[in-house]
Amino acid sequence: MNTKSFDNNCTHMTNLQSHMPCPVCDGIESASLVRMPNVPVFCNVLRRSVEEAQAVTRGGIELVLCDRCSHIYNRQFNPAIISYQPGYENSLHFSKRYRTYAAQQVERLLDTCNLYGQGIIDIGCGTGEFLRLFSRMGNCTGTGFEPTADPLEEDGVSGIHIVSHTFTEHYFDIPAKCYISRHVLEHLPDPVHFLKTIRQAMTDEDALLFLEIPNGAYMLEQCSIWDVIYEHYSYFTPLSLQYILGRTGFRFTEIQSGFGEQYLFVDAFPRAEKNMTIFSRKGMAEDALFRLTEEFALCGRKRHEKVEELIATELHLGRKMVLWGAGSKGVTLLNQLADADSIEYVVDINPGKQGKYIPGSGQLVVSPEFLTTIQADTVFIMNDMYRQEIQSVLDSLNLSARIHSL
Ligand SMILES: [Zn+2]
Repeated sequence: MNTKSFDNNCTHMTNLQSHMPCPVCDGIESASLVRMPNVPVFCNVLRRSVEEAQAVTRGGIELVLCDRCSHIYNRQFNPAIISYQPGYENSLHFSKRYRTYAAQQVERLLDTCNLYGQGIIDIGCGTGEFLRLFSRMGNCTGTGFEPTADPLEEDGVSGIHIVSHTFTEHYFDIPAKCYISRHVLEHLPDPVHFLKTIRQAMTDEDALLFLEIPNGAYMLEQCSIWDVIYEHYSYFTPLSLQYILGRTGFRFTEIQSGFGEQYLFVDAFPRAEKNMTIFSRKGMAEDALFRLTEEFALCGRKRHEKVEELIATELHLGRKMVLWGAGSKGVTLLNQLADADSIEYVVDINPGKQGKYIPGSGQLVVSPEFLTTIQADTVFIMNDMYRQEIQSVLDSLNLSARIHSL
C-alpha cells in the first residue's frame, strides 16, 4: 500500500469526540471511518494539460459517522477551498442507462403528483437535462438554478430557463408545484440552511420537493471506497435524510432507493407544524450501520489491493489497459494507485471531457473510438450498472477488449 492510499488505521471507538459538529443534527459525538490524505479537491473538473492536472489543489478527508443521526461526513472538509466554477462537469446524461433512469423518475413524478403543465424549479440543475425531460414529457415550464452555468446561456433553451445563480429568497415568487434538488445536498457546507430556504419558498402546501442523493449506507455496505471524494462533505443515510427533512419542516411517507440502490430519493411535502419531530434511535452499537463502519476501511483497503494485484497481473501479461469513466469513482481510484502510469488513457462518452486530463494522476481522457487506434485488451469499469451499455459500444466498434468491473 503506497502513501497515496487511504489509511485504515482509523481510530474507531477511541476517538468519539469530533470538534466539527454534524452538518445535519449539530451533534459532536462521532466515530471515525476512514482517512484519505491529500486527495484532489475536485474530481469533476478535468484539466487542460498534464502539468495543470498534477498541480491541482488537494485536501484531506476523514469520514466520521454521527452518533446521534447516523450521518456520515468529512470532518476535515474546508468549504473555503471549494468554489464551483464553469468547467465543473458531472453530468451523467450522456449515458443511455442513466437517461432511462432519469426519464422513469420524471414519469413517476408527473403521474403520482399530477405535475403535467406545472412549474418546476430545479436547484443545482447542471445543464438542465432533468428539466428538459419535464418540459418534453409533461409540458411543464422549468426554471433551473446553476451557479456554474455560463450566464450567456441563461435564456430560452427548450422552454426552460437557467439562472446562473444560487437559489435565494429573491426567487421565491417564481410559481412552482415541484422543487427538485438532485445530487446537490451532499456538496453543501450547510445543508440545513439549503432545505430551510426551499421550505420557505414553498407557499403552496401541496407543492413537492423531490430530493435525490447518493446512498451513504449503500456505500458502506458495498465498501465503495472510491465513492469517497472531497467534493462530498456529506454522505446521507436513510436515517440522516429522515432527520434533516424533519428538522427543516418536511413530511414524507417513504425514503426510497434507486439506480441499483446507489441513490436515495424522497418525495417530501411542506409540514404545517413548526416543531421538529423528536428523532429517536436505538444505541449506536445496535445499529447495523455502526457495525459497517468498523469494517469499511479494512474492506475498502482489501478491495483496493485486489485491484492493484489485477493491474500488476495484466501488466505482466503485456495487456494494454484503459479505464472507462472519467467520473468521481475513476478519478479517485487513479489517484490511489501505486502505479497510475500503467493506465495511460481514460475513456468517456461525454465529448466535453475528451481531450482533457484527470486531476491529480494526469491521464488523458479519450473517446471510445480512440480505442480502435490503441487496441486495448482490458477495459476496467467502475460501476457495473453501465456494463451492458459499455459492452454495446465496444461491440459497435468491433473491439474484443474484455470488461473487468472493479
Ligand atoms: Zn448528526
